[in-house]
Amino acid sequence: MKLLEEKILQEGEVLGEDILKVDGFINHQIDVALMEELGRDMAEHFRGQGVTKVFTIESSGIAPALFTARELGLPLVILKKQNAKNLGTKVWQTEVVSYTKDISYQLTLAKNYISDSDHVLIVDDFLANGEAATGAVRLIRKAHATVAGLGVLIEKAFQPGRKKLESQGIHVYAQASIKGFQGGKVVF
Ligand code: 5GP
Repeated sequence: MKLLEEKILQEGEVLGEDILKVDGFINHQIDVALMEELGRDMAEHFRGQGVTKVFTIESSGIAPALFTARELGLPLVILKKQNAKNLGTKVWQTEVVSYTKDISYQLTLAKNYISDSDHVLIVDDFLANGEAATGAVRLIRKAHATVAGLGVLIEKAFQPGRKKLESQGIHVYAQASIKGFQGGKVVF
């Protein structure tokens, strides 16, 4: 999407070899009007495919996922990275290793927010190594539900995420696809 690419060029900041900082409009401060527009586009891409719920992974995926769910008229479920005590014991869990942050966590979903008849759209901010999204797919499949696809705002196409997801039969839609970083600049 031109709109997102322009925003990335204007406000994104390349950190080191492979990180794009988007704190000013996605991760820390949120450009609400932009998120609404992206949510609308995301919803259009997946409309008519029998999606029953939108899932995201806390916390940066929440804003675009919320607008996507609103547009599709569906519930939004937030997969938890922290094992909150009040979720109880009736949960699906899977371990996710975050290479970006060099930590691992138990991705957690309460069993009462998914059923075997659900067809789930996963929405997240970034697709990099694909570990977070693959964890979400594992949880959905543990619950015998199906995955409609993965929608991300930004894909770093030079990292293996898309390949990993597609090899599991998951359709990936990226609103901006970054080919690489050259001299501290983003190349689409
Ligand atoms: P994964 O490597 O599992 O695909 O990425 C996991 C998560 O790391 C993404 O959902 C995103 O929150 C974060 N992430 C990965 N790459 C970047 C990046 O270049 N910039 C920012 N801001 N977050 C990233």
